[in-house]
Amino acid sequence: MSEKQLLKLSMELEKAENSARIRQFEKAAKQYKNLIKLAQKVNPGIINDLTFLSLLYTVNHDISRRQDPLITGSLHSLDTLQKDLAYSTITMALPGGFFGEINTKRVFDETRGIVLMDRGKRERDPALLLPAIKRFLEIGKEQLFFGRYVGIIERRISGTRAALECEAESHIIRAAEIADENPSGAIPHYMLAVRAYRAARRSDCETKYRNVLIGLKKVGKCWFCGRLVQGANHFRLLNSSISQYFVNLLHENKEDLRVYKDSAVVACIPCSAAIEQEAHKVAKQYHEWTVRQFEAVRNDIRKLAEAINRLSQGGKR
Ligand SMILES: [Zn+2]
Repeated sequence: MSEKQLLKLSMELEKAENSARIRQFEKAAKQYKNLIKLAQKVNPGIINDLTFLSLLYTVNHDISRRQDPLITGSLHSLDTLQKDLAYSTITMALPGGFFGEINTKRVFDETRGIVLMDRGKRERDPALLLPAIKRFLEIGKEQLFFGRYVGIIERRISGTRAALECEAESHIIRAAEIADENPSGAIPHYMLAVRAYRAARRSDCETKYRNVLIGLKKVGKCWFCGRLVQGANHFRLLNSSISQYFVNLLHENKEDLRVYKDSAVVACIPCSAAIEQEAHKVAKQYHEWTVRQFEAVRNDIRKLAEAINRLSQGGKR
């Protein structure tokens, strides 16, 4: 390599770094990309770092244009680089105003954590959230660089909190899978999720799943078939009239008082569906009978009209 080429490379490197320092990320991304070709001849050892910076500044550029780098795909491109890159400490600019030396592992832990969190949430797969948790825990108490700019997080949070959110999400996925068939089995999962959301200070999610938990814990006893049913979605309250006589009767017989609430009786879904279908059948029969009656009346009126018509025609003649 010639000294002239080496000088050119170092000058161009400085220009690119200056663009990044003053946060002209689109320009910096292009400059680093162009530098790769020059470095191939002069100093191939730095190509990996140049590729990293070019892709990182594409992410930063998306963020400065208020675009979600998860949606544009720039965060994935940066993350994909991880598989053939050895970690190194280099000077870089990051969202949020950081400029200085940092190890690429810190950045890759975060990109992989976010990419897996996104996939795990979309594909409802706890197996993807587990490695995301590991990556976020590596970051620990430090604030995420990209977190507030991606739609799935949208806040300034630490690695630990992002890990807690992933943990909560994985419990929610497991709970939702079994909640319908096995409500009591889903309860501990929802409880763990609520705890993790509280620790992550996500009060919105904490409240949401606490309410799900309340519904799931509700128990009713069917007035009709006597079955004990768990989970608010497995029974209905049907309006009825329960006089004091029946209330006394339930108490006297030491019966389960969960068969009624105020003036409604509890009906498990099979019982309430059967009642509803019978009611529909009766209503349909009554409707058909009414239609037949109307038809008969209409026929009578038509005959009458015809008779009047004939009479009036006869009169004209
Ligand atoms: Zn029933």
